[in-house]
Amino acid sequence: MATKIYDSHTHSDNSPDGYHSVTFLCENAIRKEMAGFALTDHCDINVYFQDKYDKTIRQSNFEMLKAKSIFSDRLELSAGVELGQPLQALENAEHVLSSYDFDFVICSLHNNLNQQDYYFINYNDPDLDIKALFDRYFEELMETIAWGKFDVLGHLTYPLRYMNGIYKKNYSFLDHYYDEVVAVLKGLIERGKGIEINTSGLRQPVGVTLPDLPYLKLYKELGGEILTIGSDSHTAQDIGAGIREGILLAKEAGFTHYTFFHERKPKMIKIED
Ligand SMILES: [Zn+2]
Ligand SMILES: [Zn+2]
Repeated sequence: MATKIYDSHTHSDNSPDGYHSVTFLCENAIRKEMAGFALTDHCDINVYFQDKYDKTIRQSNFEMLKAKSIFSDRLELSAGVELGQPLQALENAEHVLSSYDFDFVICSLHNNLNQQDYYFINYNDPDLDIKALFDRYFEELMETIAWGKFDVLGHLTYPLRYMNGIYKKNYSFLDHYYDEVVAVLKGLIERGKGIEINTSGLRQPVGVTLPDLPYLKLYKELGGEILTIGSDSHTAQDIGAGIREGILLAKEAGFTHYTFFHERKPKMIKIED
C-alpha cells in the first residue's frame, strides 16, 4: 500500500502571492489522488491590519469551510493559517487565533523586527552583519516557541532558501548555530510542537527541503515526533509537490509516521514501505 499523501502547507488566492481559488486547489488535489491538505494562507501579524490580513484570513477560512462541506467525501481538509512573525504584534496574533477555529497553525518567521523579509536581503552586502541577523533570528524563534500558540514551526532554515539558493553561500546553521538549532528543536519537543519539511526548496535554486536531512535526523535523535510535510504551493499545479520526496526524507531520518492536523490535534500517517 502506498503512503497516503497529505500536504500541510498550501496557499490560495487569499494570500497576496497566491494564484488560485480554494475550489481549484481541491479539484487538483483530487486529480492527484491526494488524501488531503491543509490550507495555510498567509497572515503576517506585523502588518495584520495594514496589509488587510484581517480580511483575507476571514475569506480564506470561510472558503475552506465551504470546501469542507463540498469535498468532504473525497478529501480530508484542514482549515489552517501561516502566522508570520506573531511576536512582532502580539495583540494581532491573539486576535486572529481567538477569532477562528483553526485546524492547524503554522508559525513562521520571514523577517526580523522592523527589517525586510530575508528574501530581500543582499547577502553579498559587505556591511551586512550576518551574525547580528541570525543571532536575532534564533532569539525570536526561541521567544516564539516560549509563547507557543501554534502547532508547527514553519520552514526552519528559511533565510538559507535565498542565502544559499540565490547567493550560493553554502551556509549551514549546523556549523554556525548548532546549539541554537538544538535549543529550538528541544523547545518545540518539550512543548508538544513540531516542525515541517517544507518542500518548496526542491522547486527553487536552493534544491533542498527546509529544513533538510541533517536537521531532520537531529530532530529525530532529540525525540521529535510531530513532523508535517508541506509543498508551500502558491498555485494549484504545485499542490502536493515534493510530498513523496519529503516522505522519503522523513523515512531516511528514521521516522515511521508523518503528521496531519485536524482540530489542532496531530494525526499520525503511517509511512508504508
Ligand atoms: Zn512562509
Ligand atoms: Zn507558506
